[in-house]
Amino acid sequence: MGIILQKYGGTSVKNVERIKHVANRVKHTVEEGSQVVVVVSAMGDTTDELVSLMHEITQKPSQREMDMMLTTGEQVSMSLLSAALQELHVPSISLTGWQAGIETEEAFGNAKILNINPDRILQSLTEGKVVIIAGFQGVTEAEEIATLGRGGSDTSAVAIAAAVNADHCEINTDVEGVYSTDPRIVSKARKLATISHDEMLEMATLGASVLHPRAVELAKVHGVKILVRSSFSDAEGTYIKEGNDMEQEKVVSGVAYDRNVSKVEVLKMPNKIGIISKLFNYLAVEKINVDMIVLSEHGTDTFNVAFSVSLEDADRTIKTLKQHEDELQFKDAFSEKGVAKVSIIGSGMSIHPGVAAKMFTVLSNDEIRIKMITTSEIKVSCIVPENNGVTAVQKLHSAFGLDTDEKAIVQA
Ligand code: ASP
Ligand code: MG
Repeated sequence: MGIILQKYGGTSVKNVERIKHVANRVKHTVEEGSQVVVVVSAMGDTTDELVSLMHEITQKPSQREMDMMLTTGEQVSMSLLSAALQELHVPSISLTGWQAGIETEEAFGNAKILNINPDRILQSLTEGKVVIIAGFQGVTEAEEIATLGRGGSDTSAVAIAAAVNADHCEINTDVEGVYSTDPRIVSKARKLATISHDEMLEMATLGASVLHPRAVELAKVHGVKILVRSSFSDAEGTYIKEGNDMEQEKVVSGVAYDRNVSKVEVLKMPNKIGIISKLFNYLAVEKINVDMIVLSEHGTDTFNVAFSVSLEDADRTIKTLKQHEDELQFKDAFSEKGVAKVSIIGSGMSIHPGVAAKMFTVLSNDEIRIKMITTSEIKVSCIVPENNGVTAVQKLHSAFGLDTDEKAIVQA
């Protein structure tokens, strides 16, 4: 008998009615002949509410006490779900992260999972029980309780799926799957049947918020097949897995849109070895995440560097650069807001030439200015003016054949 892992997020367990609904879904899966391990998030906005509650006591809470409090959110939903299953005569047991053998590093608020000892989970499954585990939490070697960072129950789910060798890991959420682009922007967005881990990782990192990027990364490393589906309907979801199906033959699988970007320009720095590393090290010390970087030599003596950071880091970036102006010796440094990042993603592009060229043509046909470009094997991103962003996404979505359902290869 195979093991299926089902994760239910906050909206799926937001009230008693939803919890009873989830219990019925779990029961159904059991009746179909699988052993079921469930990972739950806290009910609805519980985690946010708990954070606010702590802030009513202090603006600088100790991370340890914060984690002690936050982990209660998941414990409420796991015990209610277990009780709901027992009401339906389905044997079940709820386990905290530490009871379930989830060991984390000692980093309150953002701990990584170091190891999972699945003995107790497997024992309970053997006893014929559904095992319900609190997501987002684990225990350190010193027996301290730690959380995995916001949105961390996706990561719990994938890690536990790997540890118990589940057939697949279902992420039950409030959307029906992974879409070719944001359906709120493009009405023709389609739900994808399958997508590879790498593509999903790009999509998640570029702002598609269905899955936490860390969970996707973990799934890739451990070869965990994920099924993203809605707990509110029976619609088929999206599989995230390795290997290309026929349907994956489109060169581009998705178009991502991210408005949380700002472009920074540093002009005329002296062309000296080591100066670039200094610049980016100062930003690293400030924990400023840099995304795209473009460097251009300006004659032989100077160069310009442009890069992108998130919108909220833009002012801090300029401040940091100006603090080190004497050493970095640039002529000017400024940030540009009002831009957006549009990306096309697809495993197919690594073997089909001309994809980037086609993207630029589509954008120029609409008179959309490209301000910065980066590429990876399976992605091309362009920074464009924010007021052209939505048009850019729509045009690229049609140009790469994503508006329609046909499975033909769309040549670049
Ligand atoms: N409850 C936690 C949060 O809101 C973990 C999760 O939902 O994934 O961040
Ligand atoms: Mg969540």
